[in-house]
Amino acid sequence: MIRKFISRILGGKKVNAGPSAPAIIPVSSHGITRDRISSGSRRVCETLQSHGHLAFVVGGAVRDLLIGAEPKDFDIATNATPEEIRRHFRRARIIGRRFQIVHVMIGQETLEVTTFRGALADNVKKDAHGRVLHDNVFGSQAEDAARRDFTANALYYDPARETVIDYHHGVGDLKQKTLRMIGEPRARYREDPVRMLRAVRLAAKLGLLIDPAASKPIREMAVLLENVPAARLFDEMLKLLTSGHAVKCITQLRDEGLHHGLLPLLDVILEQPTGEKFVMLALATTDERVRNNKSIAPSFLFATLLWHEVLAHWEKIKAGGEAKIPALYQAMDTVLDTQGEKLAITRRIVGDIKDIWSLQPRFEVRAGKRPYALLEHQRFRAGYDFLLLRAEAGEINSELAEWWTDFQNADGEQRATMLMPEPAGDKKRRRRRKKPATAGLSNDDNAASSGSE
Ligand code: ATP
Ligand code: MG
Repeated sequence: MIRKFISRILGGKKVNAGPSAPAIIPVSSHGITRDRISSGSRRVCETLQSHGHLAFVVGGAVRDLLIGAEPKDFDIATNATPEEIRRHFRRARIIGRRFQIVHVMIGQETLEVTTFRGALADNVKKDAHGRVLHDNVFGSQAEDAARRDFTANALYYDPARETVIDYHHGVGDLKQKTLRMIGEPRARYREDPVRMLRAVRLAAKLGLLIDPAASKPIREMAVLLENVPAARLFDEMLKLLTSGHAVKCITQLRDEGLHHGLLPLLDVILEQPTGEKFVMLALATTDERVRNNKSIAPSFLFATLLWHEVLAHWEKIKAGGEAKIPALYQAMDTVLDTQGEKLAITRRIVGDIKDIWSLQPRFEVRAGKRPYALLEHQRFRAGYDFLLLRAEAGEINSELAEWWTDFQNADGEQRATMLMPEPAGDKKRRRRRKKPATAGLSNDDNAASSGSE
C-alpha cells in the first residue's frame, strides 16, 4: 500500500532500478521521430507534461509504428487522474463509471487518455471462473505496463524525448515476430478470456507468431469465453472480422480449437456446410476493402454471415406451403431472433440487414417499372453488392448479376430495351390486387416480391 502510494507520487519512476527497470530506447535505435504520431496525441502529451505529469503514447500505436504499420488511433497513458486530465483541455469528457477514461477532442481527433492502472489486488472481484469483474485502481507506469496483455502492447513513446520505454522486452519480441504474453498466459486468460481472441487477431494482423506458451493453453481454455458478456464478444468479433485479416483469423481460430459451441458467431461462420464458400468469399471481400481503406458496414457483414441460415429456413418454410416472400420474412425473423440475441446485434443494424435480404428476390424482377424503382431504393447499392457476392459464390446465376450491372450503367433508352417482357397475366393480376386495400401479400411469387416496399 505504502509502496504503491510512493510510486504513485513519483509518477511510476522506479525507486530502485531492479530487474524490472524499463529499457529506454533512443530514437537513433527505433527511428520513430515525433512527427510520426498524430498532432492531437502530441498536443495531449505536451500539455500534460507541461503541467508536471507523465504522459506517453501507448499500446497499439507504438507497436504499429515500430513494425512500420499505420496506427489506427493514438491512446495516451498518464499519471494524471481523470479529473486532472479534464481540467487541462477545453474539449474533454470523462467516460466510463468504473475505470474512468477521458476523451479529449483536438481538432478532428478524439484521443483516449487513461490514467495508469494499478496491479490487481488479491481480493479483486472475480466471477466463478476467475474473470476479473472490477478493476479500478490507479497505479504506477510499471504496474500499468504489467497489466497490459502482450509485451508488444506495453510500449510507451515519449514525444518530448522521442524515446520508447520498454518494460517487458516488447521491442525485441517484435523484432523476432513473436506475440508474447506478459506474465503467465493461463492466469492472464483466466482474468480475461477475450485475450485469447486478441492473441489470434493481433498475430494475424501483425504477421506475428503467438509464442507457444501463449498459444498452447487456448485450446483447453477456450471454454471460458462462454462466460464473457455477449456485447463484449460482439465487439471483439467485429474487430476481428474488420481487421483486414478476417480469413486468416477465422482459419486460425479453427486451428486453435476455438470451435463450435464456444462462440456463437463462429458457429454461424464455420458450421454452415453450404454457406462456407459464401462466407469465406464475403470475408475475403471485406478484407480487401479494409486493406484498401474502404468503409465496411457491419450490417452488410452480418447479412452475409447469416444468409445461409436464412436460406435454409426460407426453404423449409416454403416447403411447408408458405408463399415465397412471406416465407422469406418469416425466415429472416427466425434467424435474427435466435442469432440476434446471442450475437448482441444492435437494433440499429437489424433494420439494415433485413433491407439487404429482402431486396434479393426483387432483383429477380426484370420487367415493368419495378427495376427502376429498385434502382432508387435507399439500400440498392448494398443489395446489389450482396447479389454480386451470391453470384460469385455460385448461389445464383451470374447472368442476373451481370444484367443488373449493365442496367445500372445503361442510359434511359438502353434500359428500356433491356427489360424483359412482363409475364402474361401479370398486369391483370395487379389490377385485380389494387381493388381491396388490404396490404396482404399475394400467394403469387412475382407480385409478392414487392412486399418490402
Ligand atoms: P488495435 O490495433 O486493434 O487497436 P490495440 O492493441 O491497440 O489493437 P486496443 O483494444 O485499442 O487494442 O487496446 C489498447 C491497448 O490496451 C493494448 O495495446 C493493450 O496494451 C491494452 N489492452 C487492451 N485490451 C486488453 C486486455 N484485454 N488485457 C490487457 N490489456 C489490454
Ligand atoms: Mg488501439
